Amino acid sequence: MIVRLSPSAPATTLDALLHSAAAAGLEGRPMPDGRGGMLVGVDGALTNDVLDLPGIAAVHLTHKPYMMASREHRAPSVVRVGDVEIGSDRPVLMAGPCVVEGRAELLEAARAVRAAGADILRGGAFKPRTSPYAFQGLGIEGLRLLAEAREATGMPVVTEVMEPDQVDIVAQYADMLQVGSRNMANFPLLRRVGATNRPVLLKRGFAATVEEWLMSAEYILASGNSDVVLCERGVRGFDPILRFTLDLNAVPLAKELTHLPVIVDPSHGTGRRSLVEPMALAGLAAGADGLIVEVHQTPDRAKCDANQTVTPAVLARIHRKGLALRAALRDDVDVAAHVERTLVVAD
Ligand code: PEP
Ligand code: MN
Repeated sequence: MIVRLSPSAPATTLDALLHSAAAAGLEGRPMPDGRGGMLVGVDGALTNDVLDLPGIAAVHLTHKPYMMASREHRAPSVVRVGDVEIGSDRPVLMAGPCVVEGRAELLEAARAVRAAGADILRGGAFKPRTSPYAFQGLGIEGLRLLAEAREATGMPVVTEVMEPDQVDIVAQYADMLQVGSRNMANFPLLRRVGATNRPVLLKRGFAATVEEWLMSAEYILASGNSDVVLCERGVRGFDPILRFTLDLNAVPLAKELTHLPVIVDPSHGTGRRSLVEPMALAGLAAGADGLIVEVHQTPDRAKCDANQTVTPAVLARIHRKGLALRAALRDDVDVAAHVERTLVVAD
């Protein structure tokens, strides 16, 4: 059940609810509703006496199984990564190489994506590779280089963590922990990142349903970490001409079902360099709160995912067009006037 407390509910009511849940062998999970009040999720039923206490605005007996991730009864969340807010009006751009290749390469890439409009630097230090013989990343050295690139550019960094035992060391260096598509249902890993105070970027498994993805987010939230950002990164389609198929239905759908921010990865979602820009813009048009894009100074020489990697110049175009697109799509904007203004500025 979900119990909704009004903003003016006395603290004693929340205490009594949690106490009553514990006495029944249940766990009560308090969470802000984003509107000044609180929700308490309980994985079972409480007795009526406690549900009559002052400040209880509503009791919902039925709700989604992902009660903490659900959008029911609450406002959308904003997740902060360093100084960057994900889920506010302005879409956020994460960009950088698929894998951290070396000091000079990373610093050059970081400066280039920063200049192209990126807010957050991406780069893999621990890489999930299909072949055990492919470059697996620089590991801890890669984490150190990411921290150095953060110092050099001021951008927070996001990087993947693949194993529960790596979580502490990755959290020591990274501002945001990425759980990759192949690990979306690695429940021990989800619990472990849920026990940190680092925001988590949860990529959708490429064969996972939207509900399975949300249940994975629930693992992280239920473990005590409320800062989760979802990432649609493409699902396996039937056509081998594309590596993956970006499921853009999932963007407005997830935003309807959950209060968590949702971003789009048009790099893995297409696997094809020429499709990255149009699908990045399509993702923003579908309402994504941001993008994560693989960028390299010389994409053909990238050590990982070269075919889907774009130049900083393409990223700059995605940034410019993406912001204009989103401004034009705002409900409170007169589109005709906006387009006219944009054209005047472009002249
Ligand atoms: C990545 O971001 O480099 C990556 C491996 O992504 P995914 O887990 O979506 O394949
Ligand atoms: Mn990649």
